[in-house]
Amino acid sequence: MIRRRIEPQSGIGFELRRGQTLRVIDPLGEQVSDLMAFGRDDRAEWLSSGRSIDYNDTICFTAGHALYSNRSNVMLTIVRDTVGRHDFLYTPCSRETFTLIYKQTEPHPSCFDNLSRSLAPFGIAPDSIPTTFNIFMNVELADGGRVSVKPPRSRAGDCIELRAEMDLVVGLTACSAEMSNNYRFKPIDYEIHD
Ligand SMILES: [Zn+2]
Repeated sequence: MIRRRIEPQSGIGFELRRGQTLRVIDPLGEQVSDLMAFGRDDRAEWLSSGRSIDYNDTICFTAGHALYSNRSNVMLTIVRDTVGRHDFLYTPCSRETFTLIYKQTEPHPSCFDNLSRSLAPFGIAPDSIPTTFNIFMNVELADGGRVSVKPPRSRAGDCIELRAEMDLVVGLTACSAEMSNNYRFKPIDYEIHD
């Protein structure tokens, strides 16, 4: 078993073999972790929010749900979830998120930059990073379709487990956006189980 820590406002890339389980842990509580996955053998196959919503008839993913690729293959199955609230609608926070929404002019770390950096060694270009599976991100949907970001429901020690259904390259972050993390940046821990 491998256990590692992703420091606040950073990210990491790694391979996950078919049959292995990835456990993503929120060690301190109220911390989002963006996940992106690509086929290890063909990076043109990627984790698709749209396909996953299509085939599960939900925007709220939890244990028992399969997450699909753009080619409609199952990439990951959620096998355990102690929180029950994640987001698959929002793109990873980016430099532009902070200039357009937060009106910040200073450089700001972002999940998009952290994923781009972490996935570059695997030959994945920034423009290939679509909507991420945003673990522990708490998005509320109002009648009429308005979406709003609330503090995560995760407490210290909460986790989600995803089983790889094909060989994958995975990017994973400790999210950098103020609102998504109740205005405190914490680490994310992850384990890989055979
Ligand atoms: Zn983020």
